[in-house]
This record gives sequence, C-alpha cells and structure tokens, in this order.
Amino acid sequence: MGHSDRLLMGPGPGNPYPEVIEAFGRPVLGHLDPEFIALLDETNDRLRAVFKTDNALTFPVSATGSAGMEATFCNVLAPGDVVVIGVNGVFGERMCDVASRLGAEVVRVDAEWGQAIEQQRMLDAHPNPKVIAIVHAETSTGVRNDLAEIGAGKGDALFLVDCVTSLCGIPLEIDEWGVDLAYSGTQKCIGVPPGLSPVTVSDRAIANFVDRSQSWYLDLSMIAKYVTGGGARAYHHTAPISMIYALHAGLGVVLEEGLENAQARHQACGDRLQEGLQKMGFELFAQEGHRLPELTSVRIPQGRLPEGMDEADVRRILLERYSIEIGGGLGPVAGQVWRIGCMGHTARQRNVTLLLGALAEILD
Ligand SMILES: *Cc1c(COP(=O)(O)O)cnc(C)c1O
Repeated sequence: MGHSDRLLMGPGPGNPYPEVIEAFGRPVLGHLDPEFIALLDETNDRLRAVFKTDNALTFPVSATGSAGMEATFCNVLAPGDVVVIGVNGVFGERMCDVASRLGAEVVRVDAEWGQAIEQQRMLDAHPNPKVIAIVHAETSTGVRNDLAEIGAGKGDALFLVDCVTSLCGIPLEIDEWGVDLAYSGTQKCIGVPPGLSPVTVSDRAIANFVDRSQSWYLDLSMIAKYVTGGGARAYHHTAPISMIYALHAGLGVVLEEGLENAQARHQACGDRLQEGLQKMGFELFAQEGHRLPELTSVRIPQGRLPEGMDEADVRRILLERYSIEIGGGLGPVAGQVWRIGCMGHTARQRNVTLLLGALAEILD
C-alpha cells in the first residue's frame, strides 16, 4: 500500500489535515486517564463551537455517521410515533429505513433527486408529528436542503437534522435554527478519517427521550450521564482514543483557521469547480441556488467520453494516471452523474485546478 499522494475528491472521505495524521501517532492513554478525559472535554467544547450550540449533550458517538443517525432516531422514536422525513436522495431514504425499523410511522416528503425540499411541505405533511427529520447536505445529489423555516415552524415536534456533509463545510446554526438533534461524521468537511459521529442534542429533546431506547449501545440517556454528569466518569464503552485525538486535532485546525474562513474556503473551491465544469460544457445536476460547494454533482457528458470508454473508465484513469478519486452516481442517477468532493483539507484551489486539468486532458 502506498498512495500517500492520493487526492480524495469523492463524496467522502476528503483528505485529512496533516495535523490529524500526526495526532494518530500520539501515545495511547487509558480511556479514563484524566488527561484523556480533559482532551475529550475539550473536543466536545470544540464540537459545540462548530455546531454553534450550547447543548450540554454534544459528543462524538464511537462509530460512523450512520450510527449518529441511529443514535438520534432511536432515542426519540418508539413504535407508533409519527416522524416526517424529507427524502431527496440516499440519506433521506436511509432515515426512513432506520425509523421504520424502530416501528415509527413514517410520513415521507419526497422531492425529485437533484431538487431541494421546500420547507413548508415538511411543516404541512402532518399536524402533530413527534419528529421532523431532514438531511441538510444530501451527499448523493449535491443538494442543500434549507432548515431555518422548519425549525421556526416545528411547533411541539423535535427537529432532527443530518449534518454529516454540512458541518464545517457550509453555514450551520444548530441553536438559532431550532435544531433539536443533529449528527455528523468526521470524514467529510471536518478533515478527519471516518470513524466517529459527532452528535448534539437539545435539553428539550432529552426531556422527550423514549423510556427505554431500542439500542443499548446508542442509548443517549445512559451515555449522557458519562458525558455531562459532572462527576467522575465511569465505563460505558472503551472510547476510541486515537480517533478522538484525530477529531480534536481536526477541529483545532478548523477553529484556528476560523469556522467562517473554512466555510468560505469550501465555497470558493466549489464555486470555481462548478464554473470551470460549466465552461468545459458540463451541466450541473443540483438545483441552482441549492448547490453544495463541498459536493458538486455534474451530468456525465456521454457524447464526449473518449472512444470506447464509459464513465467508469474515465474515473479509473483519473485514479490510476492522476491519483485523483471522484465518485460515481448512486441509485436512480447511477451512470448519469459524477460526484466531486471538495471537503476538509481537499478544499484547496490547487486541487480544483488539478482536477479540471486532468478532466480536460482525458476528455479532449
Ligand atoms: C456519509 C453520509 C452519511 C453516513 O455516514 P457514514 O460515515 O458513511 O456512516 C450519512 N448522511 C450523509 C448525508 C452522508 O453524506
């Protein structure tokens, strides 16, 4: 194995920050060592800073982003509870799967892949749902779903948001937008390898937790005692020490750069990539006005692929000859779109230049 030069421009992971790779080399402490606990506390403070929240229950779940999805859903949904879920891509579908396995009654609000979900439709879908859930940044399509009006109009419902590809990449205001439960992942715009799922939960959501979560590992009421109990920490599960070092370091890089500056860097890279692709004659897939800078979806120019090659061949050449990874389409748009990520440390103008140059060389 080598490929230390691999440029990860797929739908995730992005390349980790060098400081993060360094953090993995630190000596492993015991998970109840006071020094480690202090570092975990500081990591949670840093998460509050990037989530823009005062929520006491803010910490990284020890598993990937999908576990954050399960953790948030399984603590607020019991069999028969109504949940409204916005679906315009893979991750909205996954939310429906998770919620229905919990026995919840799922009310879907569908939009075409590539289109955003109108916020009022989420509010009109059911008169009194327990939970309203939506994906902020749909990584399968490159679409941003807006949140503020849903949060303002949620009434008694809990507002649950997937922030896996939005956290640190685009503006996100957990408290200001009335988000009660949110989860993210380390490998998208935070610039850390996959493995943890930062979550944040409002006091109102905690007050509405189900009596006994259907998951033991992800029972947040139990974990809350150890995260926010104030007193001595006790054993729940062994924290993945080195991953937490890595997250601590990644968040440190983002906060040192400045959260707004990091978001602006993602925006500038996405803007230039999307302009560059359009200049080359590509058609962008995501609805205008809702395009994510960190994940660009573009229709594959079938007529311009080199003789005898399909789109997968082009991606293979990018990987083998240029060491650049981009992503293919999923579900109904498989074979029709490419998904290009500019996330975390990958969101650099020189990477945009490299990819545009490589695509021009292969296609023309
Ligand atoms: C990547 C992703 C997930 C799942 O995260 P994993 O780390 O792959 O489990 C969930 N939601 C969105 C929007 C994602 O992009």
